[in-house]
Amino acid sequence: MVNKKRFAAVSASSICLTLLCLGGALLAHPAAPDYSIQAIRYASSPDVPVSGLVVDGPKDVRVDIAMVVWLIRGGGHTILFDSGFHRDTFLKYFPMKDYLRPDEAVKLAGVQPEEVTDIVISHAHWDHMGGIDLFPKANVWIQKDEYRYYTMDAWQPGGNHGGIDPEDVKQLVQLNTEGRIKLVDGDNVEIFPGIRAYTGSRHTYASEYLRVEGSPPFVLASDNCYLYLNLAMHKASATFSEADHAANIAAQSRMIELAGGNADRVIPGHDPEQFKKYPTDGRVAKIR
Ligand SMILES: [Zn+2]
Repeated sequence: MVNKKRFAAVSASSICLTLLCLGGALLAHPAAPDYSIQAIRYASSPDVPVSGLVVDGPKDVRVDIAMVVWLIRGGGHTILFDSGFHRDTFLKYFPMKDYLRPDEAVKLAGVQPEEVTDIVISHAHWDHMGGIDLFPKANVWIQKDEYRYYTMDAWQPGGNHGGIDPEDVKQLVQLNTEGRIKLVDGDNVEIFPGIRAYTGSRHTYASEYLRVEGSPPFVLASDNCYLYLNLAMHKASATFSEADHAANIAAQSRMIELAGGNADRVIPGHDPEQFKKYPTDGRVAKIR
C-alpha cells in the first residue's frame, strides 16, 4: 500500500515534470543564439554635410561619415550585414579615406573571408552591395522586391538605378545561378533564429533593416537611418524622396520600439559615433 502510494506520488510528479517540459518546449520561443554584434569601419567619407543626411540638419556642420559592415556571430553563423565595396565606380562622387577592402577589414575581427557564411544586404547601393563577391562561401540575403527591381525594371525606361553599380547587379545574378541568393519576402521576416528583417523605409526600392534579439535587443538600421541625429530630431534621411519622408520617420520610431525603446540601441548606417559609444579597438566596435 505504502509502495503503491509512493509509486502513485512519483508517477504524478514525473507526469507533472513531463507536462511542464512539454509545455515549456511548446510555449517557449526556440532559444535564439546569444549573437555578438560588431561594427567594422572599412573607410571614411570625409566632410559630408549633415544637412545632406538629416532633413533640416545643420547646414554648416560636416562630418567624416563611417563606411561600415556589421558582423553578427552566433549559432554557427558568421553573418555580415552589408558588404561594403571594392570597385571605384562611384569614388569620383564620394572620395574615401583610410580605405581597407572589406575582406581585409573583417580579419581585424578575427574572421577570414571564407568563414563568412551569410551576407544580408540592406539595400543595393554600391557602398553596401559592392563587396558580395569578396566572400566566396557566403549566401547573400536580399529582399525579393529589391532583387527583382534592380535586376530588371531599374534599367528600363522610367526606372531608377541611382547609386547602383551594374557590376554588382551582374554579381547578384551570378550568385543566384549558383544557388547562393536567399530572397527575403517582405516585412518582419525571421531569417535566422532571433534575427528578423524589416522593411517600410524605402531608401531604395525595398531597403531593409535588422533586429537582433537578445538582452538587450539591437536594431541595425543601415541607411534607413544615417545618423543618431535623425533619431534625436525625428527627421527623415535627407536622401529619401520627399514622398517617403513620413514613412522613414515612422520606420525610425518603429526601430526604437524594436530596440526596446532605447534609441541608443538603433545603430545608424553611417554615424561615426557608433565607434565612440561602444568599446572600440582600431576599426572594430563591440556593440554587444
Ligand atoms: Zn550608404
